[in-house]
Amino acid sequence: SLILGIETSCDETSAAVLRGGREVLSNIISSQVEIHRQFGGVVPEVASRRHVENVAVVVNEALAKAGVGLGDLSAVAVTYGPGLVGALLVGVTAGKAIAYAKSIPLIGVHHIAGHIYANFLAGGMEPPLVALVVSGGHTELIFMPEHGKFQFLGRTRDDAAGEAYDKVARSMGLSYPGGPLIDKLAAEGDPEAIVFPRAWLEEGSLDFSFSGLKSAVLNTLHNAEQRGRKLNPSDVAAGFQASVVDVLVEKTVLAVQKTGVNNVVVAGGVAANRGLRARLRERAAVEGFSVMFPPMSLCTDNAAMIAAAAHPLYARGLFHNLDLNAYASLPLTKWEEGPFVSLE
Ligand code: ATP
Ligand code: MG
Ligand code: FE
Repeated sequence: SLILGIETSCDETSAAVLRGGREVLSNIISSQVEIHRQFGGVVPEVASRRHVENVAVVVNEALAKAGVGLGDLSAVAVTYGPGLVGALLVGVTAGKAIAYAKSIPLIGVHHIAGHIYANFLAGGMEPPLVALVVSGGHTELIFMPEHGKFQFLGRTRDDAAGEAYDKVARSMGLSYPGGPLIDKLAAEGDPEAIVFPRAWLEEGSLDFSFSGLKSAVLNTLHNAEQRGRKLNPSDVAAGFQASVVDVLVEKTVLAVQKTGVNNVVVAGGVAANRGLRARLRERAAVEGFSVMFPPMSLCTDNAAMIAAAAHPLYARGLFHNLDLNAYASLPLTKWEEGPFVSLE
C-alpha cells in the first residue's frame, strides 16, 4: 500500500508517502517556526494562511521525492484534530480533494495517535504498552492494550510539558520554541545548583502539573534580578529540566507497575529531550521494561506519523466519509470508535 499523509494541525505543513505502513518514502516538513518566532508563539491566523500557501507545494514535493503520482496512492490520511481548527481545515480540505479526485479512501487521523505511531516507524511497536505523550499541548500517560485502543491513565491538570519548556525559555530570554534550547543549556549546567519543586500530586496519582514549577522558575529569576544577582542560565535550565524529567520518569515507572506491561513508548516533541531519554532508559534498565523513542526527526509534527497511524485502519478497511470535519478538540478514546465507513 501507498498512503499519503497530510499534517497541518499547528505550524508545520507536512506531507509524507508511506509504503506498507512502515517504509517512509518521503516526509516533507515545511516549518513556520521562523515566521512565528517574532511573535513568541504560534499565531493561528498566520498559520492558516501559510498552510493554504504551502499545502499543494508540500504534497507535490512529497509525491515527487517518493517517485509516485496521485494515481498510485492507495489512501490519503489527514490529521483532523486536535489542533488549530483553521490550520486543520486546510489539510482536511486538501485530503478530501485528493480522495475525491482519485476515488481513494480518506482516513482522518487523531494528531496524538500520530505522535504515538511515530514509534511504529522506529521499529516494532508492540502493544500492550504504556505511551508517555509529551508535546506542546499534551502531557498524558496512556495505556494501549492493542493497536488503535487507548485508555487514559493520567494527564496534566494545567500546562503541558512542552508548554512549560517554552514559557520558561521565554522568561529566560530564549527564542521560540524554547524546548531544544533549554535541553542544550541543561547539559552544561548543574542540576543541583538550584532545586525546583516536583509536583507529585496525590499518592499514586498519574496526573501531572507543571504550572507550579513554571512559577517557581519565574520567581527565582525575578528575585535574582531584584537583588542584582546573576544566575547561571545553564544551572536554571538544568534545575528546571531535572524537575520535569524526574516527575515524567517516575510517573511512567508507576504506570508500568500499575498496568503490568513491559513496553513503554514516548511520543511528542519533548520525546526529543536528551535528559528525558537518558533518565528513562536508565530507569527502564533497572526496572526491567523496554523503552522506545521515535527518531529525533519524527518527534515533532510530521506527516509520516499520521500515515503510520492510518495504516492499521487502512488494513482493516476503516475509512471516513468525505463529510469529515476538523475539530479543535477531539478525544483520543472517541477516535478509535469512528465514525468509520467500511468500503467493503
Ligand atoms: P500537540 O502535539 O500537543 O498538539 P505540538 O504539535 O505543538 O503540540 P509538538 O510538535 O509535538 O507539539 O512538540 C513541540 C514541543 O516540543 C514544543 O513545546 C518544543 O519546545 C518541545 N520540544 C522540542 N524539542 C525539545 C527538547 N529537546 N526538549 C524539550 N522540549 C522540546
Ligand atoms: Mg510545531
Ligand atoms: Fe504535535
